[in-house]
Amino acid sequence: MATSRDQLGTLEAEGSSGHRGSSGVEVVLSSDPATPAPLCPHGPTLLFVKVNQGKEETRRFYACSACRDRKDCNFFQWEDEKLSGARLAAREAHNRSCQPPLSQSQCVERYLKFIELPLSQRKFCQSCQQLLLPDDEEKHHEHPVVGDVSITQLKRPSKLLYPLENKKTNAQYLFADRSCLFLVDLLSNLGFRRVLCVGTPRLHELIRLNESGGKKSNIRSLLLDIDFRYSQFYMEDSFCHYNMFNHHFFDGKAALEVCRTFLQEDKGEGVVMVADPPFGGLVEPLAVTFKKLIAMWKEGHSQDNSQKELPIFWIFPYFFESRICQFFPSFCMLDYQVDYDNHALYKHGKTGRKQSPVRIFTNIPPNKIILPIEEGYRFCPLCQRYVSLENQHCEHCNSCTSKDGRKWNHCFLCKKCVKP
Ligand code: SAH
Ligand code: ZN
Ligand code: ZN
Repeated sequence: MATSRDQLGTLEAEGSSGHRGSSGVEVVLSSDPATPAPLCPHGPTLLFVKVNQGKEETRRFYACSACRDRKDCNFFQWEDEKLSGARLAAREAHNRSCQPPLSQSQCVERYLKFIELPLSQRKFCQSCQQLLLPDDEEKHHEHPVVGDVSITQLKRPSKLLYPLENKKTNAQYLFADRSCLFLVDLLSNLGFRRVLCVGTPRLHELIRLNESGGKKSNIRSLLLDIDFRYSQFYMEDSFCHYNMFNHHFFDGKAALEVCRTFLQEDKGEGVVMVADPPFGGLVEPLAVTFKKLIAMWKEGHSQDNSQKELPIFWIFPYFFESRICQFFPSFCMLDYQVDYDNHALYKHGKTGRKQSPVRIFTNIPPNKIILPIEEGYRFCPLCQRYVSLENQHCEHCNSCTSKDGRKWNHCFLCKKCVKP
């Protein structure tokens, strides 16, 4: 199931080299607004270039932004390719046929009917991953169906749905309770009142649970995710079917306005964005998307606030640090190790090579972020941040230098600290 050690190694090489290896495919970002990218079922495609031994090939091509596997979306078009009217029409028809069968508002309608049913009639089809209304049952009678779906279960869709683990598209790795509770507490302690959850369905539901349980100050949450199954469980103001690699809202302008309103409410005060993208995804298009969300937030506040930044938590492996900081120089990486339920390698409490490589990147000053002492994190007064137990302050570098949670050693030849 999970990414193997080898695959993590490949990602690590890509992350730290700053490019996708000397041979491979790179995304071209400076696309000319006069030539909009063609559309695949997942919205505007991205322009790519093949790189061979460090040299860019001249012929560039468009491919799907969301799916890194041709099996999931086989869109391909040369940059200079001209398509006939018939082929364009066929493509449009294909794109339409790939869209979910129900609109978000139809899903809401179904949901409202569903919660009115008596418990004994509330059923969920596991093969189709769908809540069933009495009229649908006939069609699913040979499928495995869960009965007596309670309101509590409806509030935790990430436990009812199976995670879509296909690494090259969804790569859905759900937070372990330890990490999810840590994040919810952190957001609430920092005083946030609205959370834009980008690819974090489990965080979204936990925020809402705490809120309705009356335990926490009321924090609201809006989920943006490509996993359409979630639209069955939420109203239009708390879920948008969204592609974070091209900032595409599948339900068009209305959904974009939901997101805009959410970001700009209270003149943009009290809102934070938390994103946990698939780790195989390219940093560049994600950075472009996040800058668009930041711009949307900025439109909503007055000139005197122009210096302010939208608070962001971007969850990603530590070896992408330099790439992320290239796009967001104000970000720093926290030592906190994020771990996942359905990912054997990414579990807290292991030692050595097996520790989770996933970290939180943020523009919130790290001295404001208290990491749990009971898990071994400690405050370094010199660095003014919490660090992991084995991360020792190096007097030569004047910083706590470990990235992976192990003790690093200073190398006088390299003039920096290195992995053991
Ligand atoms: N740890 C998070 C889940 C992260 S897994 C949690 O527990 O809440 C990555 C998430 O990003 C999944 O929910 C997946 O559906 C979503 N995702 C994958 N590709 C995406 C894309 N192109 N656009 C938007 N969301 C995407
Ligand atoms: Zn230190
Ligand atoms: Zn050092």
